[in-house]
Amino acid sequence: MSDTWGLKLADPLFEKLTVIGCGLIGSSLLRVARRNNLARQLVAADVSPAVCVRVRELGLADHATSDLAVAVAGADLVILCVPVGANESVGRTIGPALAPGTIVSDVGSVKGAVVAALSPHMPAGVHLIPAHPVAGTEHSGPDAGFATLFLNRWCILTPPVDADESAVKKLSDFWTAAGSNVETMTSEHHDLVLAITSHVPHLIAYNIVGTAADLEVVTQSEVIKFSAGGFRDFTRIAASDPTMWRDVFLNNKDAVLEILGRFTEDLSALQRMIRWGDGDGLFTLFTRTRNIRRSIIESGQETAAPDFGRHQSDPQ
Ligand code: NAP
Repeated sequence: MSDTWGLKLADPLFEKLTVIGCGLIGSSLLRVARRNNLARQLVAADVSPAVCVRVRELGLADHATSDLAVAVAGADLVILCVPVGANESVGRTIGPALAPGTIVSDVGSVKGAVVAALSPHMPAGVHLIPAHPVAGTEHSGPDAGFATLFLNRWCILTPPVDADESAVKKLSDFWTAAGSNVETMTSEHHDLVLAITSHVPHLIAYNIVGTAADLEVVTQSEVIKFSAGGFRDFTRIAASDPTMWRDVFLNNKDAVLEILGRFTEDLSALQRMIRWGDGDGLFTLFTRTRNIRRSIIESGQETAAPDFGRHQSDPQ
């Protein structure tokens, strides 16, 4: 593999890329945009002056500012990388400063709520094309990002039905050049798919780690000492950013509650199998689930390594 995975562009796709929110995802985008020559000029914007200082120290952008409206002036691509619940206020701030023809996108883990939050603030002629890179780690902030975060991961675009085709193609080319595989679907379908593949699994991890912390008959030191029995993998997920995940659950309420209802029913069925000694039922289910894991490994979305290959990157 070449230094830039063969994806370095001879001519940048965009003249000026503005990334708003320079945490894990935003700083990773700036890194890969620089590395693969995706935009001629890179501007970073974050409400936090401390984050802007750090972005300058790390040399992630040509310019870093806390003034979001100034940051988007003259940009032909603006990507919002803020917690889902912050999109509305960012949209309100930048809306009047956006030039016609600009593509505005985001990276939020929820799509329906982000579209509803941003749409009213987009002036005529601005193309709102939401996106979600299904790639991440449990770490936050500008130091946590890395240029290969999106490599071989899916990026889901959820363009509105009347979206400008050339703008969708350009954004798709951008993510492809960042190393991602691009898929397109509606925001409603995205939110349901992610509820089962990401959101409910995170809720289960938060819950089981919380339950263990509250147990009185098993000490905390025993939980930590014997965590390799399976608990340890839940703790990694349960260490994910509290702000980000609070916003995910508040903004994908319907889909999460729908999947949680199904999950609770299936859990009750398992409970019954254990109570009535239905070994065949348990064995059949565990065989089916083992096959699902094998399919995920075969599709390249996971490794069979004992540490799950999670030295730095993990899809969420
Ligand atoms: P992060 O590391 O916490 O970064 C978010 C950044 O946005 C922080 O620097 C934060 O500043 C800044 N910010 C917050 N409110 C803002 C506002 N109103 N205006 C400008 N900047 C603001 O979070 P992240 O993990 O990169 O997540 C960002 C987005 O990516 C979320 O929507 C999340 O759903 C999505 N996503 C995350 C993952 C993942 O695994 N982490 C994966 C895929 C998609 P402060 O720190 O000062 O608040």
